[in-house]
Amino acid sequence: MTDETLQTETLDSTEDERTFCAVHPERETALRCNNCGRYMCSQCAVKMPVGYRCRECVRQQQDVYYTATTVDYVVGGVAAAVCSIGANFLGEILPPFLMLLLAVGVGGFIPQIVNPVVKRRRGRYMGLAVAAGIALGALPIVAPRLGWALAGAPLTILLWPLLFNIVMISVAYGWFRRGPSI
Ligand SMILES: [Zn+2]
Ligand SMILES: [Zn+2]
Repeated sequence: MTDETLQTETLDSTEDERTFCAVHPERETALRCNNCGRYMCSQCAVKMPVGYRCRECVRQQQDVYYTATTVDYVVGGVAAAVCSIGANFLGEILPPFLMLLLAVGVGGFIPQIVNPVVKRRRGRYMGLAVAAGIALGALPIVAPRLGWALAGAPLTILLWPLLFNIVMISVAYGWFRRGPSI
């Protein structure tokens, strides 16, 4: 740092030029978005590999990245539902331990199916569409068991398929949740 810049910085800080978050005018902050330059408090700042950015800039950047259309969400959801139906029927004939292994496996496998089907377009809500698809695909197995359990059958006949689908959804949803690494 040269003497000159040091002097300017000292000047700046003694000038009592208080700056405030663009979203929260009551919060004093010196942190600025390194893209648009607005002031932001620590709550509004998002740490990116390129530095701190405001939420608006991060969102704009993601919008460029998220190109999925409504059709993609439907197609992605249907693809997940098809995988889920198959997995649920396969899970039926497995002992609980293998069933849960299958849930983790299929949960990780579904994004690998959905991605090429939607031509690798990413969407902000693709994880939700896939989760909904898996839940729909579970209905043929889960719905009758819910009826039986309500009619007095042992709860375990419902709990295992439920757990199976919760694990499958968590793994698949988590994959999409990780989102873009910009
Ligand atoms: Zn910004
Ligand atoms: Zn703020």
